Amino acid sequence: MPLLKGNLHAHTTFSDGRRPVAEVVARYRELGYDFLAITDHDDRIGDDYWFNIPTGDDRMLVLTGVELDYRPLSQHVGKIMGDRETLYVLNHPARYGLNVKQILYRIGVISGDGLPIHAVEITDTGAYQAQHDVDLIRLPKIATDDSHLDDEFGRAWVEVDAARTPDSIIRAIKAGDFRLGFAASPGARALRGFDLLGLSD
Ligand SMILES: [Zn+2]
Repeated sequence: MPLLKGNLHAHTTFSDGRRPVAEVVARYRELGYDFLAITDHDDRIGDDYWFNIPTGDDRMLVLTGVELDYRPLSQHVGKIMGDRETLYVLNHPARYGLNVKQILYRIGVISGDGLPIHAVEITDTGAYQAQHDVDLIRLPKIATDDSHLDDEFGRAWVEVDAARTPDSIIRAIKAGDFRLGFAASPGARALRGFDLLGLSD
């Protein structure tokens, strides 16, 4: 089975993304992606949001999702829905400056409050966060674009060993049956090297 390339975190004009959903889907299709999850902010979407996310076509599967604000901790949580499966993701802990201990605490609190966290983003807007790519975090670790703007498309993705359906993709993420991919732009390499050397704080 060929690996499916996908982005599990993307914004559109349904919330604070720059592009309408059709353009976002088209852009990822041009970039050779197999699937894309639309995950606009839950406090900015209208009632018609759920009916206006396309399902995609043979070449590009579109998953329905939303980015929840878990308000007790001001922590964003990705929710991606298949037909039967639901995936909850602890989004961009690096943006909140969290250390590993704080991440584990948040996973416990949020999971205990009815949002069972299945995976953790180790990217912030497509930039790899090596400090969170550690064994102490035992959940699957994913890379996403969290794209809002044009230059944020196609930086970081997952390549999933799954059949081409939302449920099988979500099950494969939960099982850890995927690998991460990063764009090999000079900027991205420099940023990763900088982080890996521990020079940034
Ligand atoms: Zn987001």
